[in-house]
Amino acid sequence: MSGINVYAHYTSEEDYSDLDYSGACERLASAIACKTIDQGDGTDSAPFERLHALVLSSYPHIMAASSFEEVGRNLLITCPGTEPSLPCVLLLAHQDVVPVVPGTEKDWLHDAFAGELDETFIWGRGALDIKDMLMGELEALEYLLARGERPRRTVILAFGADEETSSTGATELAGLIKERGVRADWLLDEGTTTIINGAMWGAAGHVLTDVCISQKGYLDLRLDAHGEGGHSSNPFGGTSLEHLCVAIARIAESRPTPKLTPIVEDTFRTLAPYITEEPLHTLVQDVHGNAEKIAALAATRRDLYPFVVTTMAVDMLQGGSAAPNVMPGDASATINFRLLPGTTADDVLAWVERAAQGTGVTATLVHTTPAGRMDSTDGPGYAEVAEALGHYYGNVDVVPSFVCGGTDAIRYEAVCDSILRVIPFRPTPEEEATGVHGVNERISRRTYAQGIRVLVRLLERTIL
Ligand SMILES: [Zn+2]
Repeated sequence: MSGINVYAHYTSEEDYSDLDYSGACERLASAIACKTIDQGDGTDSAPFERLHALVLSSYPHIMAASSFEEVGRNLLITCPGTEPSLPCVLLLAHQDVVPVVPGTEKDWLHDAFAGELDETFIWGRGALDIKDMLMGELEALEYLLARGERPRRTVILAFGADEETSSTGATELAGLIKERGVRADWLLDEGTTTIINGAMWGAAGHVLTDVCISQKGYLDLRLDAHGEGGHSSNPFGGTSLEHLCVAIARIAESRPTPKLTPIVEDTFRTLAPYITEEPLHTLVQDVHGNAEKIAALAATRRDLYPFVVTTMAVDMLQGGSAAPNVMPGDASATINFRLLPGTTADDVLAWVERAAQGTGVTATLVHTTPAGRMDSTDGPGYAEVAEALGHYYGNVDVVPSFVCGGTDAIRYEAVCDSILRVIPFRPTPEEEATGVHGVNERISRRTYAQGIRVLVRLLERTIL
């Protein structure tokens, strides 16, 4: 936890004083009360339908101006601009939330799905992930339309219903947008929410927040070793487990060297004037020229490691024998890799197969989502998003980065040139640490209002 007092960085909180912030908080609480959990075929649709009804009834100006489509449980709201030739803007969020972790129910101070709010907080599952963004985007657009604005650009709000599980909704919505021949200049989706201490990047005393312009890929590989079993008095040639362990060791030893992607080069370049720590300070005077050295150094630090490495985590082992004097039959291991942008599943498979050669162990791809395209800080929307964040979070520098987990946004690459993953809300580190996917998820009224201001300013400067 960074321990940064985020409120000390809030600025211009007096903006848009005619916006109905307390109504917005109540609407967010009502959205939280819809228990929108995706469970595949067994999903209860009723809470999603209640959320749709809430959206329909809460934003009269948007609804008067827009088409409202339910695509299965997913939502697509299109608010046409007055200049249809301009590329549109896409605002994403997901409707679904994760369940309460079994056994933690009693730790919640307020029922996770009661939609309660008090003087300070709006409580419940989804307050930070990510109904704040879903409802906040609607609040911002509604405010502008209610003020009498007529946006030149078309705004599309696309709310998938299964981001936490399979992301099929996002795939479907993006497919529909593509089918219609619509292109977006840029899109906003979930990503970073934190203000972090620049010490992580060697810039102590500086605080920053990032706009993520890519995301890491995901890959599960299974390694299989065949074993005949039998008495362990003559393990000629080694057991299946032994072969498996040798293969894993060779794979781990032959890891690719750490690498600076163009995005992380950009992060260091942006921060260079503030990096005081040696040897980084000297190295970042020429980031590109020193890329290998910087990557090697970053890989020795826990916080930076995932940003410069395609990580591998050996998470599952199966097939040990039940007795010490009996050799195991077939054995397998599953390794989870997180791919740096620019690295593919095929690259990893080739590395693994090369390393495991001669061990008799085979590798099979179980599941993968590719890494995101690497977008540019010069791309559409980036400067405007950075400006809006900078306007409301003072003394905070905005740097480019990528998301180490996955989001729905990657499904939209074919319809959007610039995918910006950043959440406009900046909750306190305490809220963030326990709330997201944990217990007592909540957002303060103050945090919610400030994020809505970011969205209003962003839209004011891009769609009008
Ligand atoms: Zn989320």
